[in-house]
Amino acid sequence: MAAATSPSSFSFLRLHPLSSFPSSLRRCRRTISTSRCRAMAPIVASIDNTRKEEIVVVGAGIAGLATALSLHRLGVGSVVLEQGESLRAGGTSLTLFKNGWRVLDSIGVADELRAQFLQIQGLVMRADDGRELRSFVFEEVPGQEVRAVERRVLLETLASRLPPNTISFSSRLKSIIKERNQGSLLELEDGGRIRAKIVIGCDGVRSPVAKWMGFSEPKYVGHCAFRGLGIYPGGHPYKAKVNYIYGRGLRAGFVPVSPTKVYWFICFNGTSPGPRISDPAVLKQEALNLVRSWPMELLDVMQNTPDDSVIKTPLVDRWLWPGLTPSASSNGVVVVGDAWHPMTPNLGQGACCALEDSVVLAKKLAAAIEGGQDSVDAAMQDYSQERWARIFPLTARSSLVGSLLQWDNSLVCAFRNNIMVPKLVSLGPFLEHTNFECEMLEPVASR
Ligand SMILES: Cc1cc2nc3c(=O)[nH]c(=O)nc-3n(C[C@H](O)[C@H](O)[C@H](O)COP(=O)(O)OP(=O)(O)OC[C@H]3O[C@@H](n4cnc5c(N)ncnc54)[C@H](O)[C@@H]3O)c2cc1C
Repeated sequence: MAAATSPSSFSFLRLHPLSSFPSSLRRCRRTISTSRCRAMAPIVASIDNTRKEEIVVVGAGIAGLATALSLHRLGVGSVVLEQGESLRAGGTSLTLFKNGWRVLDSIGVADELRAQFLQIQGLVMRADDGRELRSFVFEEVPGQEVRAVERRVLLETLASRLPPNTISFSSRLKSIIKERNQGSLLELEDGGRIRAKIVIGCDGVRSPVAKWMGFSEPKYVGHCAFRGLGIYPGGHPYKAKVNYIYGRGLRAGFVPVSPTKVYWFICFNGTSPGPRISDPAVLKQEALNLVRSWPMELLDVMQNTPDDSVIKTPLVDRWLWPGLTPSASSNGVVVVGDAWHPMTPNLGQGACCALEDSVVLAKKLAAAIEGGQDSVDAAMQDYSQERWARIFPLTARSSLVGSLLQWDNSLVCAFRNNIMVPKLVSLGPFLEHTNFECEMLEPVASR
């Protein structure tokens, strides 16, 4: 890292037209006199068509875009490699809790999203015959904020705040080669090569970066989810509440996203994920068959769902057992979000935690980047330890909640519906995991 500030770096800057600069450097040209941007300059000009970048983020999902945006706000450039031709348009919606909103506030995009998505007031739990078991209002938990957001809009909003050309689409990472003293050599599917000092793997649940670091494949937990987005052009009739419906080995839910859209899901047990079905009309019919006699509101939302928005996902997780799983960082490579800690969606925390990771890592990296490679490595280790303490228990808790809710034993379901939900669950302790404070990342790009 120290070599990056050597005089040869600057002669490279003077001699080359802007178009030949790595994109992270192009963005910093305006503020090139600041030491932070000097730290981002390439060491030498490429002589073998290998691009050189200081920081490469792999994956333009929630984790990748939030990490790149957090770094950008702290004055640190990066390039984001995304295998897709564009941002992911599917994936329906996600429920974001208070911790997710604190991060979106800190990176300056929360208000734009708040203006588009309803604030959810409460939660209603029902049995599959429609009987109400319990209801809560979120006001009971001070400071709680719950909204379901469309994934597409969240991704587009994050991407829109990045400098132009930060995201390189159709750039699928194929392999990583560790180079002595030079960072990592990234080989792309299209033959491109990038030499990067820091690689941030945000490449999701089947992360090649995590695999390269020695993480095991995520484990199928024994249930799958259908998801979809009901569309009501004239407005839907539902209150701004999360609705959960519990059956035997089967549960469903729906939550209004906006005045014209309602997100729904179904979780069902299966010994294996089953065959991959690509026809969305067949998927939708399969989903409807599971809940044929369930409350009318759920069926109405599903029927108002365009076929092509229905998706089916096998649920997986990976428990980060101490001593048995690798650290999240190693030799200038670090993993964030699902790439590191795929978790079941039972607490609605996967994306929220990916957002938390992003901001924590970016702050540590931005503070360390001028101190050279040792300081960057220490920052990554620090991130890994701090976040492990948050993520491991949450992954386990989410899995246990899922197991309880997916039980198909009639006695256990009777206990859940008649005793546990009505008498034992209370909202405050149940949502305690959504407590996460993070300060605003004030933009420093113009410093
Ligand atoms: C049924 C279900 C419901 C959920 N509900 C919620 C919820 O309500 N609330 C919540 O907080 N979370 C929820 N989650 C979890 C949430 O979806 C994930 O935690 C979140 O999407 C993780 O984001 P990510 O950026 O880490 O990974 P991803 O969203 O998977 O993004 C990874 C990106 O990397 C790209 N990529 C992959 N491989 C490569 C490669 N080799 N080269 C380049 N690019 C690559 C992909 O194309 C993708 O764009 C849910 C998950 C499921 C399955």
